[in-house]
Amino acid sequence: MYLKKIELNGFKSFANKTEFLINPGITAIVGPNGSGKSNIIDAIRWVLGEQSAKALRGSKMEDVIFAGSEGRKQKNYAEVSLVFDNSQGKLAIDYSEVNIIRRIFRDGESEYYINKTPCRLKDIHELFMDTGVGKEAYSIISQGQVEDILNSRPEEKRIIFEEAAGIVKYKNKKKESLKKLEETEQNLVRLDDILYNLE
Ligand code: ATP
Repeated sequence: MYLKKIELNGFKSFANKTEFLINPGITAIVGPNGSGKSNIIDAIRWVLGEQSAKALRGSKMEDVIFAGSEGRKQKNYAEVSLVFDNSQGKLAIDYSEVNIIRRIFRDGESEYYINKTPCRLKDIHELFMDTGVGKEAYSIISQGQVEDILNSRPEEKRIIFEEAAGIVKYKNKKKESLKKLEETEQNLVRLDDILYNLE
């Protein structure tokens, strides 16, 4: 699996529709200071579900929408689209190409799509879980993060290894099942109470 294409429209400094085609292998983005290199990485994080404006170097989520410039009106929405090559089937979806889109309007509402079908953020999280790709996965290492990882507590380091080992999905399923079990047990206790009162 690899990222084949990034398309930005109205995202941060990318007012116009801008397309980046990426070939397998190493790709480097070079450009002068302030030209938008980090904005491209922010865009990838954002599509994959980043919910923290601070992590995207803003103060509120609408800050990702092109804010206007000299002679150029602000935009009312931002959209980012990623296309992943899935010919090896690493993503559990029956397509050799997977397109993820996130769109946000000035009222703060976000829309998500997987292969043009509207979906929930949860669906995107589940699709990328254990693949190493995701807003918290290790595929995006930002400036200073290497030091953070080295200095992190053993429990935090463990999360990175669990993602790499591909067991996060199962841990999450276990957590959900235990929650359901607990709810069912509480319902049974309530039922017992009702039965006792009826007797
Ligand atoms: P450096 O090499 O210094 O790290 P960079 O190439 O990574 O720079 P970015 O940090 O990606 O640059 O881009 C910063 C630019 O993006 C700034 O000029 C900033 O004004 C612009 N920018 C950020 N958010 C928006 C927005 N919502 N609307 C318009 N421009 C924006």
